[in-house]
Amino acid sequence: PPIIWWIRRDLRLADNTVLEAIAAKGRAVVPVYVFDEHERALGAAAKWRLGQGLHALQQRLQGLGLGLTLTTGDALQAFQKLCAETGADAVYWSRLYDPEAIERDTKVKAGLKAQGVEARSYAGRMLFEPWTVETKTGGAFKVFTPFWKAVRGREVASLTDAPRSLRGLDHWPRSLTFEDLDFSSPMNRGAAVLARYCEVGEEVALRKLSDFCDQSLASYNESRNILAAQATSDLSDHLAWGEVSPLRLWSVGQAGLARGLAGAEQFCKEVIWREFATHLVYHTPQMISQNWRPDWDAFSWQDGQGDDVLRWQQGQTGFDLIDAAMRELYTTGKMHNRARMVVASFLCKHMMINWKIGADWFRDCLVDWDPASNAMGWQWVAGSGPDAAPFFRIFNPETQRKTYDGSGNYCRRWLAEGQEAPPQTALDFFEAIPRRWCLSAQQQRCQTMLDLAAGRARALEAYQALRQNS
Ligand code: FAD
Repeated sequence: PPIIWWIRRDLRLADNTVLEAIAAKGRAVVPVYVFDEHERALGAAAKWRLGQGLHALQQRLQGLGLGLTLTTGDALQAFQKLCAETGADAVYWSRLYDPEAIERDTKVKAGLKAQGVEARSYAGRMLFEPWTVETKTGGAFKVFTPFWKAVRGREVASLTDAPRSLRGLDHWPRSLTFEDLDFSSPMNRGAAVLARYCEVGEEVALRKLSDFCDQSLASYNESRNILAAQATSDLSDHLAWGEVSPLRLWSVGQAGLARGLAGAEQFCKEVIWREFATHLVYHTPQMISQNWRPDWDAFSWQDGQGDDVLRWQQGQTGFDLIDAAMRELYTTGKMHNRARMVVASFLCKHMMINWKIGADWFRDCLVDWDPASNAMGWQWVAGSGPDAAPFFRIFNPETQRKTYDGSGNYCRRWLAEGQEAPPQTALDFFEAIPRRWCLSAQQQRCQTMLDLAAGRARALEAYQALRQNS
């Protein structure tokens, strides 16, 4: 009997432990995607990106003579129906580690088993599953450097190429169409723009990794923080949707280390930051939506005056680096890592707005949204997380701009106002935004919304008060 491959965040054929297991058994595979409540609730850009990724996977599967079945509703019920229709007696999937996914998968597993259907989950999304890395005393890690030291010399799985052939069915189950599922969402006015910046699929991911290895890995240390340089791998959305395995990035990093490339160790470390985020969230799932440090519940976050938060979201704070970065986010669904740290610090510290508001906005706008990396990133910046940046380290957006965008190219790329002939990138923002935002490229550059020194002093005072009271 065939085996159902329940597709979630593993939109690839290479290094796919589920497909390897099915192929090893010599059984036919039925690839299935279920658009259930959990998927429907994704942020706007992430949902759109998932739809694009599934499209690309469908084409790859077609190349192998395999059909992709798209269905909707409750996953367990969907599998009951599909097992009856195809004669499948097993459902396999690749594990996810965030609390909502674990809850869903546990239910589905129990339900399938109760009906006598084999249910099996596999590793593959991470290099090291969260429970396989432990401190010497047996607990979870809370600090990155010891985590890094614990894993950097570990053996990892071997790479496996995409299978040349897989057994399929003579008659594929009836599938819904992409239009039926509707991956669009309120942000969709921007979808056409997002599409200009977003290449999808496994083949693209592998090509980007190879280009990065040839062109940028050696100089990664010097260039990765230069905002305009585009010197990082740009693979985060491919990793988020499983179009490339972390194993591939790790092996490129390790091969670079063996060749003595200066940037290779730092690149390996970044891959491990992703592992660390998943490790943290697996062991303290509440950190997705709550302060990792409970004493932070007493911090005196502000509501923000009037449309302060909206100005931050719209890239209308008056600070060039913040505004350029927020527009890059809205236009492309991504933002440079350094810029993510600076805009997050501005919101949490200068504006004193709760990090959860920023994390929610990122959740809606990022095509590379990952529940663990997003929560860790925000709590790291805010100061409420484990191994967080010290609160007194408040990024000054102007100093950051001078240091990391000395040429001004990044800000010019994303800010149209004041430029005689703004580049298409900056104009794209105005095409992408909702009409209700009422912004135009012809308007004047807005005034700065706050005084940096006063904002910094207010934040430090609030932090002192928190420390004294806890
Ligand atoms: P590269 O420099 O090429 O690094 C390779 C890979 O390592 C990345 O693709 C990514 O998977 C991983 N990585 C690198 N830096 C980090 C990091 N600091 N934390 C975790 N993984 C990392 N990343 C996401 O994938 N999804 C998110 O939702 C997300 N939210 C963030 C929120 C905030 C506030 C901050 C500060 C960071 C966030 N990051 C998130 C991490 C980081 O900004 C992106 O992974 C990075 O910008 C991706 O660019 P790249 O692929 O070119 O990275």
